[in-house]
Amino acid sequence: MRDLSVYFCKKCGFYSYYPLAKYAVCPRCDLDMALLPIEYKEFVNLNCYERDELLADQMIASSSSVVRRIIAPHKINNTREIIAILTYKIDELNTENVKLQGTVDWMHQFIWQLVKRSKNITPP
Ligand SMILES: [Zn+2]
Repeated sequence: MRDLSVYFCKKCGFYSYYPLAKYAVCPRCDLDMALLPIEYKEFVNLNCYERDELLADQMIASSSSVVRRIIAPHKINNTREIIAILTYKIDELNTENVKLQGTVDWMHQFIWQLVKRSKNITPP
């Protein structure tokens, strides 16, 4: 069996393991992914923080020099920013969830009323 290699998406940072480069296509961006310069065995032993660091470095290295200059000092705060974005997203999803639950409750009641009403109508 062929060994797995670690590939990442230069655009969104998604990473995964593939035996061949031809399978390494980002499911989010539909772009070819790049090989990470680390062995699969080494990568799986990294903790989340170390993986984030490696991926952030690779993404910065593969971006244009202007982008690199702008975001390099910013990279230190990357984790904090990601948490902020995710927290905001969770709040958004919670609000949406409450709305959807309200709709489900309303529909449930409405369907029961219809069922009760149709049972009261006895065919001649
Ligand atoms: Zn991607």
